[in-house]
Amino acid sequence: MDFAYSDEQKALRENTIRFAREALNDELIERDRAQRFPRELWRECARVGIQGLPVPEEYGGTGLDVLSTAIVLEALGYGCRDGGLVFSLSAHLLACVVPVWRHGSEEQRRRYLPALCDGSLVGAHAITEAGSGSDTFSMRTRARRDGEGWRLDGSKTFISNGPVADLAVVFALTDADKGFHGGVTAFLVEAGTPGFSCGQKFDKLGLRTSPVGELVFDDLFLPDAAVLGQIGGGSAVFATAMDWERCLLVAGHLGIMERLLETSVSYARTRQQFGQPIGKFQAVAHRIADMKVQLEAARLLAYRAAWRLDHLRNASLDAAIAKLAVSESLLKAALDTVHLHGGYGYMVEYEVERALRDAVGATIYSGTSEMQRNIIARWLGL
Ligand SMILES: Cc1cc2nc3c(=O)[nH]c(=O)nc-3n(C[C@H](O)[C@H](O)[C@H](O)COP(=O)(O)OP(=O)(O)OC[C@H]3O[C@@H](n4cnc5c(N)ncnc54)[C@H](O)[C@@H]3O)c2cc1C
Repeated sequence: MDFAYSDEQKALRENTIRFAREALNDELIERDRAQRFPRELWRECARVGIQGLPVPEEYGGTGLDVLSTAIVLEALGYGCRDGGLVFSLSAHLLACVVPVWRHGSEEQRRRYLPALCDGSLVGAHAITEAGSGSDTFSMRTRARRDGEGWRLDGSKTFISNGPVADLAVVFALTDADKGFHGGVTAFLVEAGTPGFSCGQKFDKLGLRTSPVGELVFDDLFLPDAAVLGQIGGGSAVFATAMDWERCLLVAGHLGIMERLLETSVSYARTRQQFGQPIGKFQAVAHRIADMKVQLEAARLLAYRAAWRLDHLRNASLDAAIAKLAVSESLLKAALDTVHLHGGYGYMVEYEVERALRDAVGATIYSGTSEMQRNIIARWLGL
């Protein structure tokens, strides 16, 4: 495996960083404070192809391979200081667009992908419920057969993009006796369908420009054409979304870690205490050296996972390893950066504390760190 960038990947990286710095970073403190989702910037991102990076051009996408997609998402995380926007884009792309592309019928692909890629539609992925988070098997949302379709009842919670979503991939029990494998089906639910509404929108610690909320289904009728993949095949759709999320959401984290490292180096060179730059104190320099080691290790794991997602039939182990290692490294890097900046790091106006608040979610969404360790342990036969 050679991860040296091709000329095309270099250009993709440079263009994405330039675009993100020029277009996405205005009024960030206010946006974060107001918890405002920047729909106008969503459309700007679509203009440069972010929402459809790996999707074939015939469906309106950019047609990149998985590693190149990771390189663009990394560049986005590096150039864009709005962690919430990067997260919303990634959730849309990896957990809604990709499942529609990989599991959708030709009709569903033609109906939804062009609008999901060109920024007209915002996508969401809804599996978590109030009583079933890590234990997705215990979901209660049900779909019962009704003539030529299905009636959905139940609710989902903590759904990223939920409050602004135009299309959601929703998982429901269609045969409780069969359990998760065979008994759960994925449905495509459009906003505005009678019986479908948004419940509470949550205030949250970080990623505040990425709206998160409840989705409620009350006797919602869906035709057979709304089934994504096979009836009873929800676990396959879910597995695709998780593999892509765990391999590629962390690509954005790499960019954030690189930015935090540069900020820390620059501060350690200029901040003077006891008559010298704080970077001259070994304790400070070693902390930053460790950040560099963690970034390089995280990058190798993430790139390898992205490459394997393209080349192997099953990348779930690599996805779990990458998700666990990179998200925990991101959280540590953000905490180190705040610490290195002393009291200034704790204050909002220096824009370091926001990265720490944003990073906490990374070890929870897409399966907590404990769930990734459980997956890895299972692969080891434990
Ligand atoms: C910012 C954010 C965005 C999200 N976006 C989405 C989304 O778009 N769509 C969606 O469906 N969901 C989303 N979620 C929900 C997320 O996937 C769940 O919060 C997560 O899976 C954990 O579930 P839970 O919150 O119910 O916690 P629980 O499952 O109740 O876990 C609580 C604690 O117990 C631990 N635990 C549970 N079971 C075990 C076990 N077997 N072994 C060891 N430890 C265990 C967990 O690791 C955790 O520390 C999002 C969450 C966040 C924070």
